[in-house]
This record gives sequence, C-alpha cells and structure tokens, in this order.
Amino acid sequence: MIVVLLGPPGCGKGTQGERLAAALKVPKISTGDVIRAAMKNGTPLGLQAKAFYDRGDLVPDTLIMDIIRETLAAPEQARGVVLDGVVRTTPQAEGLNGVLTELGRKVDLVLLFEIADEELVGRLSARVVCEACQSPFMGRQPGERHADCLKDPKGTLVRRKDDEPEAIRNRLTVYGVQTAPVIGWYREHGANMKSIAALGTVDGVTALVNAAAGVA
Ligand SMILES: [Zn+2]
Repeated sequence: MIVVLLGPPGCGKGTQGERLAAALKVPKISTGDVIRAAMKNGTPLGLQAKAFYDRGDLVPDTLIMDIIRETLAAPEQARGVVLDGVVRTTPQAEGLNGVLTELGRKVDLVLLFEIADEELVGRLSARVVCEACQSPFMGRQPGERHADCLKDPKGTLVRRKDDEPEAIRNRLTVYGVQTAPVIGWYREHGANMKSIAALGTVDGVTALVNAAAGVA
C-alpha cells in the first residue's frame, strides 16, 4: 500500500505517519530522509545531491524524484510505504505518479490532514525548544531551563523564529498556495483521497487515520 500524506506544518502528520507505517508494517519515508540516506551511502545520485548541498543550492526536483525512484524500487519498500512531505507541489505529484507508473505501482491512498489555521498558529506558537539540544516542549515558557538536558545542563528554552505567529502564518500561506493545486490534481486523477480532521488527541486522530486506511 502506497500512502501519501498531505497536511500543513504542525498538523501532526509526521507522528501519525509513523504510527500508520508501523500499523501497516511498511517504512515511512520523507524527502529529507531519502536524500540524506543517498548522500550518506555515497550512491551516484547521492553524490550528485551532495554537490548541490555543498554549494548551498537546493536539490532540484528531478534529482529528488530520481532518488525517490531508486528508494521505491528497493526491496524494503516492496510491501508499501508511507510518504511524508514527498508531495508538496503539483510537479512533485506528477513526478511521483510517473515514477510509480514506471514501477508498475500507484498511489493507493492520499490522506489529507485538515485543521484550521488559527488552531495551528496557537499550537506552534505554544512550542518552545531547548537552545542546546532542540528538544521541543509545549506549555513551557521561553527562558526556563531544560533541567534534564543531555547537551548542556544550563540549556535554555527559546521560541524558534519559525514558530513566531507571523512566521507560522507565512508558512501556512505557502502551504495553501502550493498544496491546494495538489489536492485538485489528485481529485482530477481519481485518487482515493480521504480527509482527516486533525483536531483532538493524538490517539483520536490515529483512530481516524486507521479507519481511513482500513487498518484494524
Ligand atoms: Zn536540552
């Protein structure tokens, strides 16, 4: 089963994707994971990607898709895969579709995590991270100490610039501009797409995801 996760930053699809992958007994992969793995393993495509990284350039979509093709063709992914953050734009949806067609496979399920922007702004701006070890915390204040920090006993909690309300609204705007067409693209191509109301407890959302994926 090949599952594509779509959803805005802070919607919890990373956590839900890991749980779904475990339930389906398949790997969960993200674009960052597969590029890092290819670079670490020194594959020919990995070396090409590393050249872009080392120059400080973005790895082009076509190279990313080549790496994803190689990853999806590997035996570890034969039973299926949960793809998190692999499809963010229409060209990526088309690219993935092309790769899967070549491999004689297809996207079986698209899960669309839906949640109101203001809920995400509230959630993400309530998050602080330890400056030293980057561990995230909810319900703590900037300036407090991370008492059990493994990196620095004086580790201090800070709000990341990315998690300021204004920055979050910008990230959500980018998501809306890039991803709304992806949803339309999957609809036009007759994908099996299901919406998940990503509000409430983590376990509650997991129950919705499992129901959508037909996992007991
Ligand atoms: Zn820490």
